[in-house]
Amino acid sequence: DPTDTGAETIVAVATAPGRGGVGIVRLSGKHALAIGQAITSNTLPARHARFCQFVDSAGQPIDSGIAIYFPAPNSFTGEDVIELQGHGGPVILDLIVRACTDRGARQARPGEFSERAFLNDKLDLAQAEAIADLINSTTEQAALNANRSLQGAFSREITALVDLVTRLRVYVEAAIDFPEEEIDFIQDGQVSEQLLAIIDQLDRVQAQARQGALLQEGMKLVIAGRPNAGKSSLLNALSGQDSAIVTAIEGTTRDVLREHIQIDGMPLHIVDTAGLRDSADEVEKEGIRRAWTEMESADHILLVVDGSDPAHNDDDPRIIWPEIHDHLTRDIAISVVHNKCDLSGRDPNISDHGGTPVIELSAKTGAGMDLLKSHLKQCMGYTEGEESSFSARRRHLLSLEKAANALAAGRAQLENAGAGELLAEDLRECQNALGEITGAVSSDQLLGEIFSSFCIGK
Ligand code: GDP
Ligand code: ZN
Repeated sequence: DPTDTGAETIVAVATAPGRGGVGIVRLSGKHALAIGQAITSNTLPARHARFCQFVDSAGQPIDSGIAIYFPAPNSFTGEDVIELQGHGGPVILDLIVRACTDRGARQARPGEFSERAFLNDKLDLAQAEAIADLINSTTEQAALNANRSLQGAFSREITALVDLVTRLRVYVEAAIDFPEEEIDFIQDGQVSEQLLAIIDQLDRVQAQARQGALLQEGMKLVIAGRPNAGKSSLLNALSGQDSAIVTAIEGTTRDVLREHIQIDGMPLHIVDTAGLRDSADEVEKEGIRRAWTEMESADHILLVVDGSDPAHNDDDPRIIWPEIHDHLTRDIAISVVHNKCDLSGRDPNISDHGGTPVIELSAKTGAGMDLLKSHLKQCMGYTEGEESSFSARRRHLLSLEKAANALAAGRAQLENAGAGELLAEDLRECQNALGEITGAVSSDQLLGEIFSSFCIGK
């Protein structure tokens, strides 16, 4: 029986490591109740808080607290669950866990409680991921969105899409199976009409998921440019902290510096890199190599120049930095920052130079920083205070993209060839891609990857 996950009873501390007023140990599985009753020397009625002494396997008292029994299937994991709420110290909690393992439970792996909840159909995969995202949220908006996903807002959108795709596929396949009815797929406006409606709906879900993933995971912004252009000053101006070392000596930021900031609720990972220039210094060379690596994985690059230096204040990234397009193998959005406008005497401004945005600002005085911030929000597609959103992950965006591609291919089949079989195949592919999101279609490897990144006890 694949859903008999509870044969082994698992145990873990469910509260955060460290000290706190209360610490919770959670047991799940067939023997949870027996173990819980042995530790508390009590019969534990369902869903009642009972104050008891906790004893180890030798009968020695180790702590006192509250025990609660959640019988299967109405528990988080869908199995019998016992919660032991003791005092929140790491040593005490370890003793309580040991009292459980001594009685036959085993230590839970990271995410194993959530994995069991998924395997027992208490949650789908997107909801299980939302638990981890809720816990890891770094902004209020991200937390609220993760909670909506956990409540099923994202999954419902996906399920609705899957239903529509399935209905259309059944219709198309029925038509293929009964050729005597001679349905002409092109003439039959119903098929293309439904297909277009699905494409439209998927498009809307994709836009929301993109916003959700942006809020959850944040985009990566890499600040690059020659030494002394003002990269570190710009990082400080964006983050509002003096975390990067700003000096007048060229080449001080030899390694990369990272900051996690928010612009009006939009999370952003900023990386300040070593100044890019030819150097014989080995340490500096290494810093420059790392700068390229960081840029390669960026969502956006700010190429900073000293706007007051006539030798280096160009607009075109290829002139500022001829190697840039040889080095970058991906197509990454680049904006040019003309820093030190207080020295160059130019007004803060943003303009377009042959497709490259160029921003005049001063990291030192702060002039033009608001232009840069709203530019970044716009580039990343962030809509402030966007309602009815949900959290999503990059994994989900990839699956949605696969689903959209399959629909586009199906549409082309229909329009060019009126081909029913191929359309049905594309619809099946779309269904599978959507199924990856909720876990209707999943592999052990995918599940392993997802749940192993959870914390222990979740
Ligand atoms: P980096 O090497 O590119 O990281 O440059 P830094 O941020 O360390 O700055 C180099 C020098 O330029 C420092 O002396 C900064 O104070 C100065 N600087 C940076 N931004 C500005 C600016 O907007 N205006 C003026 N006047 N000086 C700046
Ligand atoms: Zn620097």
